[in-house]
Amino acid sequence: DYAQMNRNMTDLFSKMSDVPRNYIYHKKRIERMWSQWSKAAATNWEKHPGAMSGRRKQNILVHMGFLAKESKLNFAEKSKEGGPLGELLQWSDLIASLHILGHQLYISTDKGTLKNVIEEAERAPPCPTMDGKSKRIDLIITDIMGLRGLKKHRAFLVNNKCRIRLVDSFGTHVEFTDKFYFRDHKKELSGSVPKNPWGGHGLAPQQHWTFFPHTDDNTFLGFAVDQPLEEIRPMFDRQSSKAVLVYGKEQYMWKGLEDVIQSVKEVAEVHATVADASTGSPMFADVVNHGLLDTNRLYSLLRSVKVFLGIGFPLEGPAPFEAIAQGAVYINAQFNPPKSRLNDGFLAEKPTLREFTSQLPYAERIGRPYAITVDIHNSTLLKKAIQEALLLNPSPYVPKELSTEGMLLRLALLVEKQDFCNPDKTDSWPPANQMQVFSFSELFIKSLFNYYFVSVVIAH
Ligand code: UDP
Repeated sequence: DYAQMNRNMTDLFSKMSDVPRNYIYHKKRIERMWSQWSKAAATNWEKHPGAMSGRRKQNILVHMGFLAKESKLNFAEKSKEGGPLGELLQWSDLIASLHILGHQLYISTDKGTLKNVIEEAERAPPCPTMDGKSKRIDLIITDIMGLRGLKKHRAFLVNNKCRIRLVDSFGTHVEFTDKFYFRDHKKELSGSVPKNPWGGHGLAPQQHWTFFPHTDDNTFLGFAVDQPLEEIRPMFDRQSSKAVLVYGKEQYMWKGLEDVIQSVKEVAEVHATVADASTGSPMFADVVNHGLLDTNRLYSLLRSVKVFLGIGFPLEGPAPFEAIAQGAVYINAQFNPPKSRLNDGFLAEKPTLREFTSQLPYAERIGRPYAITVDIHNSTLLKKAIQEALLLNPSPYVPKELSTEGMLLRLALLVEKQDFCNPDKTDSWPPANQMQVFSFSELFIKSLFNYYFVSVVIAH
């Protein structure tokens, strides 16, 4: 049975029903972006018929463990008050993409639903029935909380480990996937917290699907950024203002940054979307706080400000690219020295050795005129960066890999080609002919060049 394009949204929504309040955010986002998804699908089918047609229709279990009651995270509830939205956003985009790509989805956010799907799958015959349908599960997409829930179904988990894909924003380095390796190397892999609460699942590193493309160990799943829509009007005229919107929707993210905000006030007009700002706080004096905005109003504001200013947290959220998509310049807070699990409390328990050189290292690759990376604690450099950004006037921009089209194409290939169940498979993916081989001497020359370059810079 081949996967056909499926643009029936009602059909998708009927599958998001086990705990209705868990899906309020997803449904809103999917509905708002449906015409963009639909258009992107049509374009992909036309431009890349080879990749989009002839794919196997798969039965995919999507289990969002972080929304289950047992996780006690209350993410769905917190989304109304400014809690982490990045995860909800990525799952919404993932579900919409898989459905449009024509797969059969079983969506769950609770242990009862999970149990039913698993039991039904286990009862099903291994081969398709006469009508060509099978309830066997081909792919299980979940998160770490969900994986814990799956451990209660031991036999199913053992038999299907190779079918798991873990949605894992920050990624997992190979040193943390094997719990025995971690136990033996705890000291060099850890700073003050020698724990590995999120790792140790023994999955192949590429079974971890990340938010941004950042480590070659893992697989880039990504998310989609809205295209700027004509019908969304700016709140005020961008050209006649010097407005900077500070990135940080909860007050704790602004903690200790009085000096930074003071510097911004000296050169621009400061706007905020803080859900819980205390009115008496001097930091919020002279700040236009709009409170947490719904998406359309947030986009109107992003169309009006010239700058979207990162103040160091949250790390690697989607918002900077939403701002760039509406024509604002993102100022990316640089970390010097870089933050990692060895020196930062937030990253201490994350199963990765990645070094964050800034709030959003991916934006460093995008660069001017869309993003400027600067040490925000150096008031002179920060003011200079804001003044530069106020004059840049970039056109709205969505990088291809973060567009609906890019995400659909990527996911079509990931679902069809990634295979961790057949280690002997000869036609492995990505294809070997796409690999770039560097000879040892090339690497040697490169490192020599870097050494020479660094010496010259130091000498001057
Ligand atoms: N957001 C919103 N209203 C606001 C501020 C932010 O809806 O007033 C949304 C924003 O559009 C983005 C989401 O919050 O899609 C997540 O933003 P962030 O980058 O802060 O990441 P998080 O820490 O929530 O994962």
